Formats: sequence, structure tokens, C-alpha cells
Amino acid sequence: MSSVSGRPWPGAAALLCLGLFVAVCLSAERAGAVERPLRGELKRVLVLHSFGREFRPWSEYARDIKAELERQSPWPLDIQEHALLTARFNNPGPEAPFVEYLHSLYQGAMPDVVLSIGAPAARFAQRYRARLFPNTPLILTAVEHRLIDRADLRDNDVVVAIRNDFVAAFENIQQVLPDTKSVAVVIGASPLEKFWMEEVKRELKPLGERVELVWYSDLSFEEILKRASKLPPHTALFWGLMSVDAAGVVHESDIALRSLHAVANAPIFSYQEPFFGDSTVGGPMHLISETSSRTVKAAIGILGGAKPVSINYEPIGFAAPRYDWRELQRWGISESRLPPGSEVLFREPNIWVRYRWQILMVSAVFLVQAGLISGLLHERRRRRFAEVESRQRLAELAHVNRFSTVGELTTSIAHELNQPLGSILTNAETAELLLKAKSPDIDEIRQILADIRRDDQRASEVIRRLRAVLKKTPFEVKDFELNDTVGEAIGLVKAVAGGRRIALSYMPTLVDLHVKGDPVQLQQVILNLIINAMDAISDAGIGKREVTVSTQRAGNQAEIRITDTGSGMAASDLAKVFDPFFTTKPQGMGMGLAIARTIIEAHHGTISAANLPAGGALFTIRLPIAS
Ligand code: ADP
Repeated sequence: MSSVSGRPWPGAAALLCLGLFVAVCLSAERAGAVERPLRGELKRVLVLHSFGREFRPWSEYARDIKAELERQSPWPLDIQEHALLTARFNNPGPEAPFVEYLHSLYQGAMPDVVLSIGAPAARFAQRYRARLFPNTPLILTAVEHRLIDRADLRDNDVVVAIRNDFVAAFENIQQVLPDTKSVAVVIGASPLEKFWMEEVKRELKPLGERVELVWYSDLSFEEILKRASKLPPHTALFWGLMSVDAAGVVHESDIALRSLHAVANAPIFSYQEPFFGDSTVGGPMHLISETSSRTVKAAIGILGGAKPVSINYEPIGFAAPRYDWRELQRWGISESRLPPGSEVLFREPNIWVRYRWQILMVSAVFLVQAGLISGLLHERRRRRFAEVESRQRLAELAHVNRFSTVGELTTSIAHELNQPLGSILTNAETAELLLKAKSPDIDEIRQILADIRRDDQRASEVIRRLRAVLKKTPFEVKDFELNDTVGEAIGLVKAVAGGRRIALSYMPTLVDLHVKGDPVQLQQVILNLIINAMDAISDAGIGKREVTVSTQRAGNQAEIRITDTGSGMAASDLAKVFDPFFTTKPQGMGMGLAIARTIIEAHHGTISAANLPAGGALFTIRLPIAS
């Protein structure tokens, strides 16, 4: 037998004063927390524990009762606690020394109320009350009604009993796991545990053969753990109590339960709330609060002067079933199997509940991003369409413009064609004459035929070039050599220049200039610029009549320069010459340069106009060199 904690109320005065002072201060502080002024004298409460202060399930009842007492008490309280460790032993030694110890502590300064927690403490209090506290009210709480010695109850006693219903507890197992074939009952070997084993056996008799019951009461806890880890399917474990196992080893029951839970391959059931929440599946059970609220009500009543005999409670049965969601998941128990009115606790919040804000944020970011991406894709498609469309429009416009340009070339083309055709005619006539001779000079005739062929090729070339320029083709991008392309355009317009008595010279650079684009459209630009240059010279009247076209490489750009010796542009017109419909010519359309600039920009190039210091205009085209 041993006493745990406890200051003697009598004894060293200084210690007592200090104890009281501390108790009053602590109580006052606690009371302050609920803003309840403490008044009156100190009330002394003696709490007797059954197995130890930390032994479940009683430890949880005691904790709740003390907390509630302190919360509700209008008086400062001094709660002293003692534990009867002998309840664990099969052969307890003599209790007398412990009784005497308590007697010496409390004689002359009786507690105002004694609270016994659990059956062994209840029995001890009843047995020794005459010696220890004959007139002190006794509250027997957290005790099963079968364990109360009713014959020994006095008017000074209040019983807050519970009623175990093992049939309900076992039916719960069959309700939630209907395939259960056997239930292994875990229970220790102390006198109290032995009592309960017999009670369970007796109560469950009516269940008959429905479920096989296996008793672990004669096993060491170590052996119990081993067996629990290898249970056959359709077995459940029923947790009774484990204070002392068959090997005589003492256990803190909640620690033992946790070890069992860690290894067991079957679900564990119990009917006590203190075991619920860590390891057991759940079912109908005793709730701590139901016992604790009645106990505290009785204690406060008694401390306030109520007669214990006037306080009467029926034994408290199981509360509505409660289940641990995590255990239901673990053992695959569907919630549809739970009896109506059941409460499921410890649900783990799902990902949505746990990370709702994060998920919403990420989804929002995704949505915005998806919106942006689809917006950009849509925009890109629209731009592509627009580009293709504008190129087609440009090609059509350029084609129309080409007709008007070529119209201006009619004289030169006619001249170009007339010349070879005229030569062919003359040569053919000469050949005829030669053939009429008796001995025709074959060599000369051969020479004439060669000339005819050359002239024919010249005429064909003119027609080919013309067709190439007038061909209606969509804007197509290819790699071409700029010097040759410019040269061909000059070939077309050369005769016009000759007809106008203008010297048209071409100075291509000696290096190849490969650019990307549509060569026909570029030729059109060159033709436009040359015709404009020739127009400017014609307008200027007398003076030098020269148009010079040159190409060169400037960095990674190809450059075409077209200069003339005309009158140049008025300073105010310089900025406007590329505007559509800007013209200073009576018959002009003002579209030539506008189209030229559009074509050059479609080739990612630039075109600019300037006046030369010596007079005349300079047009510069720059195009990126193809890599
Ligand atoms: P159009 O030839 O039908 O007038 P353009 O767009 O080809 O249309 O030319 C616009 C105007 O730019 C011309 O009317 C002229 O005033 C000016 N211009 C173009 N080239 C030259 C040049 N080489 N010298 C002087 N002015 C020019």
C-alpha cells in the first residue's frame, strides 16, 4: 500500500500556512479565469484512486471531475489525492499501515468530502470510513453498480454508478462486422479483472454459439501481443482491462492498449470513452462527462450543505454509439453498418477540406493561365490569318499596279520585240536571195540562220520576262539572288530609257546577295522606282539625264540605291511620297511608292527617299540577307 501525494493538513504550522496560501492563490487564479469571486472558507476534498493516478479509464474520470469541481466551486478548494496501488495485487499485503497513515494525516482536520474513483477505492472507503472519516460525506463514483457494497451504504453516501452492458458491447461487434467468428477478450489477472471475466462470461451466455470467445486472462501480455498479431480472419479483440497480467507484470492500461493496437491484425473494441480515440473502433460506451457532471453536482451540493441522502442517481448506462472514422477506414467498416444515431468522430479532413484555399488559388492561376494561353493562341491565329490575307491583298494590288507599270513600258517592249523580229525578217530575206544563186554560199547561209536563232531567242527572252512580271502569283517566299533579279528588271526598262534618251546604268556589287522573298514583287518595286526617276528627269528638262542603280552589302543587309539627275522632291513632300494617293503628276495615281513600301516591309526591309546634294533623288532599299 502506498500513498501518492498529499500534504498533511495538521503538522508543521509554517508548512500548512504555505500550503494553504498556495492552494488559495492557485484556486483564486483558476477562479479568476472564469471571473467567479471565491468566497468563504477553504473546502477540502479527498480523492481516492483505485489503481494509480494515471491508470485508465479512472484517471480520465478523475481528471474531468477535478477540473469541473474547480471550475464550478464557489469556494477555494484543496484537493488531495491518494492511490491504492494494492488493488493491483492478487495478494495484497495488510492495508492497516496505509489506513493509519491516512488517519494520522486527517485526524483533527477532516476532509469536507471524500471522492472514491473506481471499485477498489469505493470498497476501501466503505471499509475504513469509521476509522478515517466517520462523519464525512462519501461519493462513490466511476464504479460499476455490481461492485457497490449496498449493505454498507450510509446516509452520508452518494453513489454515482455505471452499468456495464456486455451483451450490447458484443452485439455492436456483430453489428459492424457481421462476419466475426471469434472474439478474443483481453483482460488481466487482478482480482477485479477476474471478477469481470466471470461477469462477461455469465452475461454473454445467452449469445450462445454465435461467436466463439477466446480468453486471454491466463496469458502474459507479451504472449497476448504475439497472438494478437497473428489472429485468423474474422476475429475481433475486446479490450477489458489490463492492470496486472497473468505473469504478474503491472501495466498502465492505456500504454498496454496502444502496444496492442500497434501489433494487432484485428479491430479492437471497448465500451469506455477513455479508450476511445486512439485504438478502438467504438460502439456504445460510457461517457466521462455523464459520470463527472453528476459527481461534481453531488460534491458541490454536499459542500454547500446538502444532505447526501437526498442525492440519488440511477446507474448510468452506455451513451449513443460513437465510432472512430480512422478505425472504420482501416477495417473496411461501411458507415451504413453503424446503428442509427451513431456519431462518427476523428474524420480526417479530405484534401479538399485541408487544402481548399491552396487548391482554389492553384485552380484560379491555372484558369487564368489557360485563358491567357487560349487568348494568345486565338490572337496568333487571327494574326496569321491577317498576315496571309494582307499578303494576298498585297499580291493582288501589286499585280494591278504592275499592269499600269508595264503599260508605261509598252513602247520599250514593242521596241525590244521589233528589233529582233525586224532582224529575223531581213536575215530570212537575205537567206532566200542567197539560196537562189547557182552555188549558194552555205557558210554564209549558216551564219544567217545562226543570227535568226539568236534574234528569236532575244524576242523569246523579252516575252518571258514580261510574262514573269505580269504573272498573277500569290506572294511566295523563296531564296533568290538580288543582283540577278535587279538586272532582269533593268533589262525590261532599258529600251524605255533609251527611247527617252536617258542613260540607265546598273552597278551590281561583285558579291552574291541572297535574300528571302518574292523576286517578281521586288522587280516591280525596282521598275516603279526607275520609271519615277525617268519621269523626274523628263520633268526637269535639259541637263544630265542619268539613272543609276547599284547594289551593295551593308552589314547583314543588302542595299539597292536608285539615283537620278531629276529635280528631286520638295522638302515638304519628302515625308509624304510614300503615302497612298500622293502624287505631283497630272496623270499620276500616287500608289506606286505606297505599294513599294508595303512590298518592302513584307520582306522585313525598309525603303527611304532623300534628295541628293547635287540635285536629283535617291531611293534606298534595304533587305535582310538570308542566313
Ligand atoms: P505616281 O508616280 O503615280 O505619282 P508614286 O507613288 O510612284 O505615284 O510617286 C509619288 C510621288 O512621289 C510622285 O508624284 C512624285 O512627286 C514623287 N516622286 C517619286 N519618285 C521621285 C523622284 N525620283 N524624283 C522626284 N519626285 C519623285
